[in-house]
Amino acid sequence: MQGETHLAQRVTAGVTFAARLSFEDIHHSYGPDAVTLRGITLSAEPGEVLCLLGPSGSGKTTLLRIAAGIEAQTSGRVLLNDREIAGPDAFLPPEKRSIGLVFQDFALFPHLSIVDNVRFGLTALSKTESRREALIALERVGLAGYADSFPHVLSGGEQQRVALARAMAPRPSVLLMDEPFSGLDSRLKDSVRAETLAILRQSRATAIVVTHDAEEAMRLGDRIALLKGGRLVQAGTAEELYEKPLDLFAAGFFSELNVLPARAKAGSVETPLGTFAAPGQEDGAVNVAIRLSGFDVSESGGALQARVRSRRFLGVVELLELAVPGVDTPVRARVRIGELPARSRDIWITVRPRDVLVFERDNENA
Ligand code: ADP
Repeated sequence: MQGETHLAQRVTAGVTFAARLSFEDIHHSYGPDAVTLRGITLSAEPGEVLCLLGPSGSGKTTLLRIAAGIEAQTSGRVLLNDREIAGPDAFLPPEKRSIGLVFQDFALFPHLSIVDNVRFGLTALSKTESRREALIALERVGLAGYADSFPHVLSGGEQQRVALARAMAPRPSVLLMDEPFSGLDSRLKDSVRAETLAILRQSRATAIVVTHDAEEAMRLGDRIALLKGGRLVQAGTAEELYEKPLDLFAAGFFSELNVLPARAKAGSVETPLGTFAAPGQEDGAVNVAIRLSGFDVSESGGALQARVRSRRFLGVVELLELAVPGVDTPVRARVRIGELPARSRDIWITVRPRDVLVFERDNENA
């Protein structure tokens, strides 16, 4: 009992004070022809996990490096709890920012013991104090038992947790993580990600996590900021980005889509796959995006006839390629295994309206 109380106290002792980290109109370039960020305004709220999501080259890492102070923006400001830490009036060096960093490759020193790896960022403390703090951090990630071992005895997932302990040991207000799970094999990824999220919640640190994987962003993020070409496309919860993407690019990042060009007229769009409501949509050229998961299929009846061109077994679901009169390209649909009998050829399909998204074609970027 005594021991348990002691453990609880030690774990609570590691809690940080969460802070808000804000970017205000951040511009950045690596040279005249290499503009990286084009006016990013975005905040991570105290205690929130914010995912920076976007394709490779969209500027995610650069934004993270600017937050850390290892890269300087061309213009704009970075604030920590309304205090300018980088901008025209101030520049706080990385070690003064109360920010912890976790990189893709963990970057542990192989010749240092695990506790010494974690102590690395605790230079301001005495040897005894820094060891004590490092052990608290290791306890939080469940690895205190390995304190005096060396990194090579640990699995990839455990090494990642040591990297997390090292970043959290100085109790930063904000933790920045750059693709922290991409070095792990896919079997490990899910469990390490879930553990990391639990540790972040427990420590109450604000976290900004870079990823190019929409599903990872949905699993981890309280909110997601989607970047493209150095611009913020949209920020919001996973549901907001999935249900109400602002453009075709955002929609395509979260769902596989069939895209049909069409024209909107009087708040509706007519396509060979059906007529759909497009409330508030101005008359003119649009793209109609239909999620692959948005089809009901049947042999006995439905809205439209289609012919099965190919079927690909994917486990829980199968991927169908369908020929539909009036559509030049194959229409793709994901349906549950068993929904369609094995030898079905001429079938009926019905598109579910909630899986149809309509975007003005001029705004289209994808
Ligand atoms: P992401 O993290 O989204 O992949 P980055 O922030 O790493 O994007 O890169 C954004 C853009 O800046 C890319 O076009 C990349 O090639 C370029 N870039 C990144 N680092 C440098 C650098 N040190 N010098 C010049 N260009 C760079």
